[in-house]
Amino acid sequence: MAATPETVKKLKALGAEEIVIETGAGVAAAYTDEAYAEAGAMIVPDAASAAAAADIVFKIQRPMQAADGIDELALLRQGQVLMSPLGALTNADLVSALAAKGVTAFALELIPRITRAQSMDILSSQANLAGYKAVLLAANHFGRIFPQMMTPGGTLAPSRAFIMGVGVAGLQAIATARRLGSIVTATDVRPATKEQVQSLGAKFVAVEDDEFKAAETAGGYAKQMSPEYQAKQAALVADHIKTQDIVITTALIPGRKAPVLVSEDMVKTMKPGSVIVDMAVEQGGNCPLSEFGKVVEKHGVKIVGPANLPSELATDASALFARNLLNFITPMVDKQTKALKIDTNDEVVKGTLVIQNGQVVHPSLTSQT
Ligand code: NAD
Repeated sequence: MAATPETVKKLKALGAEEIVIETGAGVAAAYTDEAYAEAGAMIVPDAASAAAAADIVFKIQRPMQAADGIDELALLRQGQVLMSPLGALTNADLVSALAAKGVTAFALELIPRITRAQSMDILSSQANLAGYKAVLLAANHFGRIFPQMMTPGGTLAPSRAFIMGVGVAGLQAIATARRLGSIVTATDVRPATKEQVQSLGAKFVAVEDDEFKAAETAGGYAKQMSPEYQAKQAALVADHIKTQDIVITTALIPGRKAPVLVSEDMVKTMKPGSVIVDMAVEQGGNCPLSEFGKVVEKHGVKIVGPANLPSELATDASALFARNLLNFITPMVDKQTKALKIDTNDEVVKGTLVIQNGQVVHPSLTSQT
């Protein structure tokens, strides 16, 4: 849900005259109509009446188009403001359809990763939860326990977890696997991650050559590594992975397919009963054997390709998303008039405003349209 009873109250305090919610919209995330009504929202019978009543539309997923089976775009009208993840840089069809509708649209996945915008950052809040849930999923599919356990019947050895890619999700996966009692190692191509891994009590495993030292972009993301680096990295991973029980892969490179880090040959060397959770499966996967939305068993190893991890923690995922959205809109509300005032000189607005009154305005898209 893009709003919770807590944010409904705060949005009203901010100046929203009415908050309109489709009946039952929060049920899957354990937020009832009654709780929304108590917070001051108006409950309406369906999405169409909710959208018709609104000047500003909040969504947790991009609007669906006719080809997806439900035409949510048809519910929007000229002059409305949409705040939603859009996948704007890779979804040209949706962007042009929204522009044709004459709306103003903000793409929440483009919130700049600057200190001021941390409280608005939906990618981080959701990746954090996903990293936690990925470890729990792995634990569920693992036929052993995570910690060392001494019992009258004998001692059980601790599990070994290897986290590949130490962004927001990877850091939370390290912390979660450690809390469960695993011996944790982690790898990344960005040098800044070494200290972060160590500060969480895990061991850093990586090829630390000159290319590694320059592998971070100005935006804090990973660069595409050279074939030479990839070969060295593969040799190191091949050697390390044989001894691991749990492998959580999270490696992504913005705008590209996810790098392949765990080959089929590596899977063949893993111990029977080991588990891989490929969090990059939606972007093609860090392991070529993973399948989107499925758990498959290959060479005795269970490979999990989760479709939407935050949705498995719907209550907290919604709570954080809704707060992110509240923090995003708050600076845009004029304190006197309580109206939305879009300041196109603001860095956060500039980064996220994709369409203004039907015109595609985002600098990363105007060159293509
Ligand atoms: P991401 O989801 O883009 O990628 C996940 C991780 O995979 C990254 O750490 C990346 O370096 C790693 N990776 C990519 N290719 C790899 C390879 N070949 N081998 C191993 N690892 C590989 O990353 P993210 O979670 O979005 O975080 C990216 C950066 O943004 C981090 O530095 C994070 O701290 C920073 N960040 C800043 C803010 C902020 O200041 N507001 C908010 C969120 C994240």
